Amino acid sequence: MATFLCYGSLLFLAVTKLSAAGFCEKDNKETFSYHGSQNGVMKWPRLFPACNGIMQSPIDIQTNKVKLDRHLKKLSFFGYDKAVKRGDVVNDGRTVMITPRDNVRRGITVHGKDYNLQNLHFHWGSEKYPGGEHTLNGRRFEMEAHFVHRSSDNKTAVVGLLVQMVKRDNGAFKPIVEVLSDVLYKDETTRLKSSLKLNQLLPKIPASYYGYTGSLTVPMCTEGVAWFVLKNKQTIGWKQLNSFLKVYSVKKEARSSECLLAPNNRILQNLNGRIIYASP
Ligand SMILES: [Zn+2]
Repeated sequence: MATFLCYGSLLFLAVTKLSAAGFCEKDNKETFSYHGSQNGVMKWPRLFPACNGIMQSPIDIQTNKVKLDRHLKKLSFFGYDKAVKRGDVVNDGRTVMITPRDNVRRGITVHGKDYNLQNLHFHWGSEKYPGGEHTLNGRRFEMEAHFVHRSSDNKTAVVGLLVQMVKRDNGAFKPIVEVLSDVLYKDETTRLKSSLKLNQLLPKIPASYYGYTGSLTVPMCTEGVAWFVLKNKQTIGWKQLNSFLKVYSVKKEARSSECLLAPNNRILQNLNGRIIYASP
């Protein structure tokens, strides 16, 4: 009985210690992280001055306050109809990122200027704590996909896709979900195993958006980013989302439950008088 009690108390102590720590010690070794006690998302403004800027992202989009501009051109995509047959997939400790390597020109055209697709990556939470970055009238979605584009004069334009968790799997995510187990740990890389149809990953009507000027949502938090948050959303199956939840922010040898990457979303930033435009 005494032995049982002893083990019982030890177990209790171990559990309390874990939850009291609650953060991933290894994260603190990075330049920045989401959950580190010294370099986590709340500490970014102190560590990276640009994160203190007045035009930061993400933001809450209040649809009754946006400026509807009927003359605003809809977003036009090029090359998205060509499936990505070759693509690198990496866990960089902050997200899972896919970089097309098939030399196909893909991108968006804004005011006659082309922005070429560099990568797509994801921000996610869990069923309990949704991990999208932009919110819509205060509502946060379970996930957000970012399609990062750059123009020839080095301007950045990001298409933000809000993703809602549903029961049914979404086939468009299959080529990504099927390689997640190869990039569970930081610095692991793999290649797409099946072709990724980007136009299926976008909503059926991807042209309508909320547009504003903001920043990268990770340090250095560089401003001057043209944001296009799509009005229409995408869905992901809960089982598929669960596969993202198994991804770690650390290398395999340092894995522990506190070092899971989720949630990897930045807290909301002040609008500071910026105008959010809504395309028709
Ligand atoms: Zn992002």
